[in-house]
Amino acid sequence: MTIDLDLRASYGAFVDNEFQPIEGATFPALDAGTGEHLADVARCGSREVDAAVAAAAAAFPAWRATPAEDRAAMLLRLADAVERNQSRLALLDARDVGRTVTETALDHRFAINQYRYFAAAAVTHEGWARPIPNGYLVAKREPYGVCGQIIPWNVPGIMAAFKIAPAVAAGNTVVLKPDENASLSTLELARLIADVFPPGVVNIVPGLGEEAGAALTAHPGVAKLAFTGSSEVGRTVSAAGARRLVPVSLELGGKSPNIVFPDADRIDAVVDNAAFAAMYCNGQSCLAGTRLFVHDDVYDTVVDKLVAGFRRVRVGPATDPTTGLSGLVSEEQGRKVLGYIDKGVSEGATLLTGGGRVEVAGHEHGHFIEPTIFEARNDMTIAQEEIFGPVLSVIRWDDYETMIAEANGVRYGLAAGLYTSSLRNAMETADRLEAGSVWINSYFNLASGAPFGGFKESGIGSEYCHETLNMYTHLKSVTVQNEPGDPFFLPAGD
Ligand code: NAD
Repeated sequence: MTIDLDLRASYGAFVDNEFQPIEGATFPALDAGTGEHLADVARCGSREVDAAVAAAAAAFPAWRATPAEDRAAMLLRLADAVERNQSRLALLDARDVGRTVTETALDHRFAINQYRYFAAAAVTHEGWARPIPNGYLVAKREPYGVCGQIIPWNVPGIMAAFKIAPAVAAGNTVVLKPDENASLSTLELARLIADVFPPGVVNIVPGLGEEAGAALTAHPGVAKLAFTGSSEVGRTVSAAGARRLVPVSLELGGKSPNIVFPDADRIDAVVDNAAFAAMYCNGQSCLAGTRLFVHDDVYDTVVDKLVAGFRRVRVGPATDPTTGLSGLVSEEQGRKVLGYIDKGVSEGATLLTGGGRVEVAGHEHGHFIEPTIFEARNDMTIAQEEIFGPVLSVIRWDDYETMIAEANGVRYGLAAGLYTSSLRNAMETADRLEAGSVWINSYFNLASGAPFGGFKESGIGSEYCHETLNMYTHLKSVTVQNEPGDPFFLPAGD
């Protein structure tokens, strides 16, 4: 079946539920594999950001007063609309970003679940109250107002849902900037949003980071910033928030350990997990399990199976459902990944498989890299820095304390995986790992509601869970006396 992408020729800023005429420059959105021109996208700047923030500010009073049940109903309608458009949005992301259509379909499944999860959360997000002498103490949650949100290119469907769903569920309005490498599915989501939310509740300003992104983070009308991307830009966004003293939540990079213990059951499943952890998203995932610590006793078995598995992966076009691994998002990303591979070799890591570029006929614009495995040490650059490509470092271990120190021995702390048949070992090791998410015996096990956020330089705050609504609300206390009494009441104590 052929899917009609139904794209507009060009996309301006989406403000008040309409695409605005483009007054300034544009940039082209190209098919990452073939280079085919898909659409032109506005390079928004302070003029468009001003208009979007004004629309979001105007929509805020009515939106915060909208009953949570009604906000929830709209989120459910958005989930249904995304579900009806899932194949189209998945194909669009596969072409725009270059990831396999099988994976991008999963992205939108995650997104649908997010809209539904936060529909439920909207009506169950409660404050509390307790009686005090002659009255009540009430703690209530209030939305901030206009939220400025910035997302990266790697999983655009998931990222848009992670940002929009909790913000609007909590009664905020939104101005969101998608990434310049992956704007189209978010702009197409805007068309679905226009049928669901009142004008101004969700506004989208595509453009470059240093233009639209910088204008959004500096805007005096923005009451809360939420950012997902690299730790480097996270610092810039955090500094912009600090200048204006607005809260900033950050979801940043990762270099996650994945640990195989000698008592792990089902070694074939462990190997599948290790491969998926490294290759999902073509390795362009903040959560990628890029450092595989394998115990000496099972090292040869695991590594032999892993290498054989990597060699079997079919590298091909993103749009082919039989493709195992497709191309990277851009030429810049391709160069960066090959640069890390060179660095691994020059620092003395042993290349076990892969390491080169792959040409895919008809997709010469794409940047396809062989699934790559190094035998490495944890102090090597390839084991310390986020590569964002299908490159796995395998690290041999035999001493538990040394392995734990190395697993924690990076600046990041986003996720970790471990495989063992001992419950006690699993739980004790989970306690020792400096990571926001620990997966025992199954990587990427993201059940809805699992708090998702980083330790150390991987971020501040948690998304994907009920507590996310706390990040999008002030906590206000209201103290009630039944009649005017003495000021400054304090219990006397003993
Ligand atoms: P990036 O930091 O380069 O860009 C992210 C976003 O920030 C883009 O929209 C970009 O336009 C914008 N931006 C860039 N400069 C800006 C500035 N000066 N002011 C405001 N905005 C600016 O990251 P990327 O390369 O697009 O994405 C990859 C990174 O994102 C990786 O480090 C990855 O680990 C991280 N990531 C983290 C998570 C998570 O949830 N922790 C999820 C996905 C990606």
